Amino acid sequence: MKDENWKEKLAPEQYHVLREKGTEAPFSGKFYQHFEDGMYHCGACGQILFSSETKFDSDCGWPSFDSSIKGNIILQEDTSHGMERTEVLCSNCKSHLGHLFDDGPTKTGLRYCINSLALDFTPKK
Ligand SMILES: [Zn+2]
Repeated sequence: MKDENWKEKLAPEQYHVLREKGTEAPFSGKFYQHFEDGMYHCGACGQILFSSETKFDSDCGWPSFDSSIKGNIILQEDTSHGMERTEVLCSNCKSHLGHLFDDGPTKTGLRYCINSLALDFTPKK
């Protein structure tokens, strides 16, 4: 999809995160303290990205998951802001979601630190 189409489809703050690789303020997102059963989708294209079963209570200020839906996430090196980080992108629409860290407290050792603004949620029926 073209840039101007994303601009029409997304709210300005969503556009900033998803298409301009922005980061929402910590502890501000609607999914940070959200622990219902269901699936988290890409806020841009709707692809399923994370299950609530992999979400854990982190103190970092953003929704955190210890694994993703296989094949639906792309990881790439991100050296912006003078840091070496791993960027997390939606495999379908290449929107920015957040970053992956290897300091997770669960058995996978991974922490997908994801912006609430990059996600939609569907409760389990
Ligand atoms: Zn997407």
